[in-house]
Amino acid sequence: MPQNTAFVRAAFDITRDLVAICDPYGRITLINHAMEQFTGIDAGAPLPGPWSSYGEMSHVDGSAIADGTDPMARALRGETTRDVELALVGRSGQRRTMTVDSEPLFDASGELIGAIVVWHDITDRRRAEDRLVFQASHNPLTGLPNRALFVTVTQDGLTRAQSLRGSTAVLAINIDHFADIATRLGDRSGDHSGDTFLIEVARRLEASLRRVSGSRPPDTLAHVGGDHFIVLCEDVADVNAAKMIARRIAASLGAPLSISGEELSVTACVGITVTRDARRDPEPLIREAETAMHRAEQRGAGRHEVFSGEMRSQRLVRIANESSLRQALARGEFYVAYQPKMSLATDRTVGVEALLRWMHPERGLISPLDFIPLAEESGIIVQIGAWVLEQVCRDAVRWRTALPGGQPLMVAVNVSPRQFESDLAETFGGIIGHSGIDPATVCLEVTESMVMHDAELAIATLRQLKSLGLSISVDDFGTGFSSLAYLKRFPLDELKIDKSFVDGLGRDFEATAIVAAVMGMAHALDLRVVAEGVETADQVVRLRILGCDEAQGFFYARPSSIADIDARLVGEARMQVVGRTELARRHAESAHIGKILVVDDSDDVRRLARSSLAAVGFEVREAASGEDAVTMARHFKPDCVVLDVNLPGISGFDVCRILRDDAANERTSIVILTGDVAPSEKVMAFSLEADDYMVKPFSPRDLVSRVTAAIRRRGELFAHARP
Ligand code: C2E
Ligand code: CA
Ligand code: CA
Repeated sequence: MPQNTAFVRAAFDITRDLVAICDPYGRITLINHAMEQFTGIDAGAPLPGPWSSYGEMSHVDGSAIADGTDPMARALRGETTRDVELALVGRSGQRRTMTVDSEPLFDASGELIGAIVVWHDITDRRRAEDRLVFQASHNPLTGLPNRALFVTVTQDGLTRAQSLRGSTAVLAINIDHFADIATRLGDRSGDHSGDTFLIEVARRLEASLRRVSGSRPPDTLAHVGGDHFIVLCEDVADVNAAKMIARRIAASLGAPLSISGEELSVTACVGITVTRDARRDPEPLIREAETAMHRAEQRGAGRHEVFSGEMRSQRLVRIANESSLRQALARGEFYVAYQPKMSLATDRTVGVEALLRWMHPERGLISPLDFIPLAEESGIIVQIGAWVLEQVCRDAVRWRTALPGGQPLMVAVNVSPRQFESDLAETFGGIIGHSGIDPATVCLEVTESMVMHDAELAIATLRQLKSLGLSISVDDFGTGFSSLAYLKRFPLDELKIDKSFVDGLGRDFEATAIVAAVMGMAHALDLRVVAEGVETADQVVRLRILGCDEAQGFFYARPSSIADIDARLVGEARMQVVGRTELARRHAESAHIGKILVVDDSDDVRRLARSSLAAVGFEVREAASGEDAVTMARHFKPDCVVLDVNLPGISGFDVCRILRDDAANERTSIVILTGDVAPSEKVMAFSLEADDYMVKPFSPRDLVSRVTAAIRRRGELFAHARP
């Protein structure tokens, strides 16, 4: 081969792989430039023959390679090897992970003349892969295990517990007032996630936990997002021992903490669950600890609470209890939103329905669906209901005086069954008398179940209320079991057809037939019919054809503030003869403060985001995947996209990239939403020109203010760019 040496050398030296050629006896005869560099052996001088002078090969795990089985030896036996993964330690002592290919070399007559061995360095790739594995299972901010890894560790722990005598404890930890702390720190240092703070908290928690001691496994601390941590303690004696751990955790956080010149005192709420049953699954255990943690939070900062079976069925308890509802009422955390009821004949607002809202100082806006049932259960709905009516009367009196001429605006108030058990007519009569409102403009919405429950009582109370001059509406009609024939016995004025039937209009034959039948019979009984939850123009057209009197729903307007309703009424009064579509368009415009596309694969997150944003008047659409988000953005043209990073299919970052690549979306602001406080994600978000970055869980109020600010900032950007 001598005449080819120069050519072979040139080719060899281009590659960054290490290449060596040996003779039939395994003596090295040629090495390339990369191999020269790796070994420090001068290829120009006579080469040492034995491979051992070049480096030491071992298996990746460090174990020795059996004689005659390394790739070179195999090639010399006529074998071809590919992608054998080995570790190679060079003379300098550096250890690299390599994949090795080897091949026997034959001459023209087929005689073996040696072998070629090529080492490809994959050390960096392996490291990157390891890093990815680590990232997928750890919190990027604190480096602690994340929830997924914690579940695996807990599963292992439970398996071990089968042979241990002790119990297994899971503790859920949540830092008190973290949002406030992060804001305060952010104001000082511009670091708006409180990263430094969380890292310090994680360090303290870790220091307070048990390390390996004898045969007992160490405690495992996981950082599951934001200011939320969980701990697994194996082989715990009993509940009291678990409480001791909670106290130790509390004490570790207690020492004053100084960050960016700010002295902070930190407390946390801890939820504890302890089990002796090693066959339990990790997930429910974690949820139990979290339920107990929420219970502790309700009791106040710095508490710990042990999970008890009685907490299991009480989802609502997490959100509110009787005393927090009482407090909310006393502190003025309730307010009333109004949703217009439209006449289908004139396309004018003929009434409004009052819908109660609770702006919780920490949890943000809470849906009535989440606290009315509890208020009913505890009976405090009686006081809340009276407050709502007072509030509504005060607002309605203003509307009456503000609107010259025309029909009076009807106001509808929801009434719970429980209120019927109190002296409703007397209370309501008093409030209405004081307020100066015309009782003929007040309508009470009651549910079918209420009138079904105790018919005699209901009839008596309804008669009293009617004698005050009020009118009565049956809410959610069709969802209960009452027939119209039955309802004939009650003094009613209006039926509200439940949204589920309206949704089926034109799509579901049965729903359409029911609406048509109800309409006919209700009119025969001289009842006004209102369709609720109307969301599309198509539904409006169908309802009109069926002879429905009024409609209410997102198609016209969302529940909104008194100011918005005022503006709407003034606008309508000014409007002369305007075509219906034009009117609908103007309604849509006057109500428009912005369109938001919420993209998240979690139903809960989407619901929370939607309700928070819709409550302040945004028009909200939802997408559960990246692909849907891209399609919807094209048609819906949102002012802002609230975008989750972790989506099935294409990721939130991909969506961000796609949107930013299309000039049609240049005015669309993007708020990235993520479960992790990873600085790298934040950098990524901003490098993709996202307008803001939020970590879940978020408070509704925070979301609204971030989205509003993002839209405003992007607007300003363009105002400056193109005056
Ligand atoms: P409801 O009386 O059936 O009120 C209608 C609900 O449907 C409201 O939900 C409203 O925001 C929502 N809605 C209106 N139009 C549409 C639409 O086009 N699409 C969809 N998807 N929803 C629409 P909200 O405000 O969350 O109230 C929920 C329930 O809470 C009410 O149902 C009512 O039963 C109860 N509630 C609200 N305020 C009060 C109150 O002051 N007292 C009592 N006792 N109950 C109340
Ligand atoms: Ca209602
Ligand atoms: Ca209803």
